[in-house]
Amino acid sequence: MSGNDSREQAIFQITNREPTPVRKRKSLDKMWATDAFTLNKMEEALSKKAFKVMKSAMESGTAVDNDTAEAVAAAMKEWALSKGADFFSHIFYPMTGATAEKHDGFILSEANGKAITDFTGSLLIKGEPDGSSFPNGGIRQTNAARGYTAWDPTSTAYILETRNGSTLCIPSIFISWTGEALDKKVPLLRSNKAMNTAAQKVLKLAGEKNVATLNSSCGAEQEYFLVDANFANLRPDLLLAGRTLFGSDPAKGQEFDDHYFGAIQERVQVYMQAIEEKMYRLGIPAKTRHNEVAPGQFELAPYYEAANIAADHQQMTMTILKNTAKEHGFVCLLHEKPFAGINGSGKHVNWSVGNSTQGNLLDPGSKPNENLNFLLFCGAVIRGVHLHGPLLRAVIASAGNDHRLGANEAPPAILSVYLGSQIEGVFNQIAEGKLDGCDECGIMDLGLDQIIKFTKDAGDRNRTSPFAFTGNRFEFRAVGSEQSVAGPLIAMNTMLADSLNWIAAELESTIDGKSNAAIREGIIKVLKKLMKEHGQAVFGGDGYSAEWHKEAVEKRGLLNIPTTADALPHLKDANVVKMFEETGVLSPVELESRFEVYAEIYINKIAVESKLVVSMAKATIYPAATRYLSDLALAAASATEMGVDFDNATAKNIASNINGMMKAVAKLEKAIAKDSFKSEEEHMQFCANDIRGLMDEVRGYADALEGEVADDMWPLPTYQEMLFIK
Ligand code: ADP
Ligand code: MG
Repeated sequence: MSGNDSREQAIFQITNREPTPVRKRKSLDKMWATDAFTLNKMEEALSKKAFKVMKSAMESGTAVDNDTAEAVAAAMKEWALSKGADFFSHIFYPMTGATAEKHDGFILSEANGKAITDFTGSLLIKGEPDGSSFPNGGIRQTNAARGYTAWDPTSTAYILETRNGSTLCIPSIFISWTGEALDKKVPLLRSNKAMNTAAQKVLKLAGEKNVATLNSSCGAEQEYFLVDANFANLRPDLLLAGRTLFGSDPAKGQEFDDHYFGAIQERVQVYMQAIEEKMYRLGIPAKTRHNEVAPGQFELAPYYEAANIAADHQQMTMTILKNTAKEHGFVCLLHEKPFAGINGSGKHVNWSVGNSTQGNLLDPGSKPNENLNFLLFCGAVIRGVHLHGPLLRAVIASAGNDHRLGANEAPPAILSVYLGSQIEGVFNQIAEGKLDGCDECGIMDLGLDQIIKFTKDAGDRNRTSPFAFTGNRFEFRAVGSEQSVAGPLIAMNTMLADSLNWIAAELESTIDGKSNAAIREGIIKVLKKLMKEHGQAVFGGDGYSAEWHKEAVEKRGLLNIPTTADALPHLKDANVVKMFEETGVLSPVELESRFEVYAEIYINKIAVESKLVVSMAKATIYPAATRYLSDLALAAASATEMGVDFDNATAKNIASNINGMMKAVAKLEKAIAKDSFKSEEEHMQFCANDIRGLMDEVRGYADALEGEVADDMWPLPTYQEMLFIK
């Protein structure tokens, strides 16, 4: 059998595929949130008093008493039963970034042989999974493994339907018996609280009388690749590592930019519509869809929501993307870099903070120079990025994202902040101690009468910045496509809380008098000081350029942190530990445990990949290459016998690549066997420098072989096939 029989069969399957049966989807109002236990549904099912408690909890994070929990549990159960659910599950978000669930039946059997359904307030409030196998970074010993899940009333419960039945899903926190956070939701909720407390102080000092609870908001743009399952199933690397560990560049990649925003293929669009329908039913506001830069790459973004809800919804979205792909014969790759040499995938986390009284505090309005609240909050972000750039880098560090950051397609591994010309201009004035005016937005007038004139944005976009102001929010562009948004949101909320606390203390000692003029003068003074100390984090130029890398590090003292191995240790920096402790977001023990967990995940990922490189090189690529070499040898022998001149150059080249590959494999195997390290830090550095380097070395030879070996013998679906055949 020749090597590519399986590839040919895959192509046959794809080209003869019956299209997914299409049916007109229902109108939005018939789909919207039908499977979510929203406030609307609670209003119908609860007493006025209980509803008021829940509304306030969901909108402002206030407490829910036991009686209300009891009433909500009863109403939730009735609703879930009416939707056909017979099981419920606390859904939680362990530190791994995954979504975890343990299902329990509503069923209760009675002595008389009957079975009834049961769901009480206490079952709703608290669950106790034996979660001892979740990584806890040393917080729990397995002999003291008790962990609790507890209902988060501020996020919406929902029904998850499979073809065989439905489950009521209850968003929950996950904590240890000793009360330490073992998940991503607890610190996110705490970071919101810390941000609110600090923001209240600042706004009141700035002269605001009535200040409602502040919340952070998030809208996350999700990039992903789709590969036909017939191909993906032939690639152990895609199945186990989520990315290709081998594969040479196709003749055509993304150089024509013809995929970006191009017409969406019918099969893909049907998939996207199926995703959106599921999201709508769960009350997740899917808003945009388009083709991305790379062939086979796409993007989905929802309308933004409160950060805690957005984080839950984002986890659900990733699950839906993957599960729905299977129904459509695709595999959805959320990995940050599934294909070398082709654009990787990010998750732009759009973030702002606001409330019902002051609105969005990151909205500059038409006259930013007069909008002191905006200037205070934007200034706080600038200070945060400057002081905590390494933390922001650490929370987006992962084995996958290492392939993106620093490459010329994604934001650099140096954290700076882009403001756009108008806002940068205003802050430059502040740095000089004045604040006279600002650039106007201007009108777009094309001189074409039939095109209506419109107001331009005050600044252009900057795609090379890892952290960019985009008109009324910041966009953290360096987040990886596979990551939970909770980590970045926790870091951003906490650094904002920390900066607002600093600003509040400064304002208290600087503002001299109660008049508006005195307040304004005090604010400008404080912001001037802030810009003097932290203004070097602001950068509007080309973040990809070599000059910036030099300037950032040499002149501005910013850190260039290229790999996860370099980034994660910053979680232990004294100022990071202090900030998380002072704001009450993470205790030193909780923070330390996060370092341990992330380091372990990184090391394990590299271990899986390196073992795959060895096994694929030995058992898949080596046999194909040697078979072809033996064909060439036979051809050469027969040619010589016939007296025909035969050039052996190709055979020699192939032999040399085979030998090179196997030598590199041997080195890699030896490196993998090393198992004694002084610390996690040392182990991570070994992965980043030695193991990754050797993996690349093996790959270099293997990819060269792909270009030489007869195509009908090549055993792995090629980049060209995976990226272009749908
Ligand atoms: P682009 O690709 O141009 O950045 P998209 O429309 O794809 O824009 O995504 C922008 C994301 O930012 C959406 O999820 C949107 O809802 C979100 N967003 C808009 N305004 C805010 C805001 N004030 N706070 C947080 N997110 C926001
Ligand atoms: Mg964006």
